[in-house]
Amino acid sequence: MSSSPSLDTERERLGLHADCVSCFGLCCVALAFTRSADFPIDKDAGEPCRNLRPDHRCGVHPELRERGFVGCTVYDCFGAGQKISRVTFAGQDWREHPEVRSSMFALLPVLRHVHELLWYLTEAVALAAGRDGAGAGESSPDPALTADLRAAVDRVERLSFGTPQDLLAQDLDALRSGLNPLLLRASEVARARSRHQPRGRRADHRGADLVGKRLARADLRGASLRGALLVGADLRGADLRSADLVGADLRGADLRGADLTDALFLTQAQVNAARGDTTTRLPDGLERPGHWTAAPAAPAAPAAEPRPRPRGDHPRRAARPRR
Ligand code: SF4
Repeated sequence: MSSSPSLDTERERLGLHADCVSCFGLCCVALAFTRSADFPIDKDAGEPCRNLRPDHRCGVHPELRERGFVGCTVYDCFGAGQKISRVTFAGQDWREHPEVRSSMFALLPVLRHVHELLWYLTEAVALAAGRDGAGAGESSPDPALTADLRAAVDRVERLSFGTPQDLLAQDLDALRSGLNPLLLRASEVARARSRHQPRGRRADHRGADLVGKRLARADLRGASLRGALLVGADLRGADLRSADLVGADLRGADLRGADLTDALFLTQAQVNAARGDTTTRLPDGLERPGHWTAAPAAPAAPAAEPRPRPRGDHPRRAARPRR
């Protein structure tokens, strides 16, 4: 999926890009992690990471991967961290206001979830409105669906400005379930009109366990890979144009040589968690991670072993420049 100026503007308006400079390092404190392939140490929720400086910046930021903090380069709060810090708690620093610590920390995964939904909804609006439509360029809008999605964006945005009590009382599963039909409709509309149509039926791997699967050079154009487990999957040279990847777990998936042009609902965090190189084609608006290799895909290497799932949510991703 291309990221149009209007989509970027809308996400900017909603504050969905992480701005670590405006955050009190919440993900480096609030979240727990376990010693694993993603982290070199154990840390409890609410315990500041040993690398977190007093100014809330990461003391090892330039060498996170070399030091084993791979999970930190993958996590994305979708702008929840700075909203909690600056809006919900009106700039109260947890170091100076210990009375806000517990609710501030508890709120991070909740508001992150809400902001992630906003991220998907904004993309769905663009798809339904006929912009960036999965390889269709400017195409026919679906006014009814667009209106429903815009109403959903407004509703979820209002929720994101709620009090900590309101937000913590939210049933997030119910919220997501209520919005999923709209996201599915947008996905169907976009994939049906995509120019990246496979010869036969579009593959449906929704929620499938494809951990470690050999899918090199697979034709997955327009496929549904919603929520699929693709940890360590071999997707070298796979054709994923216009595939729906919402919620797909791509940790350690080998995307060298894969084509993800116009892939739907793909996030930077998913890309950061995967492997790739200069031959991997990404949708506009997503950055090629710095740790991806420069070399072209080597033929017929075995797929990576799946890595253990880390405990809970990850701490902070690499700091982004203020946008
Ligand atoms: S980015 Fe990671 S290593 Fe750095 S302070 Fe945060 S949790 Fe610690």
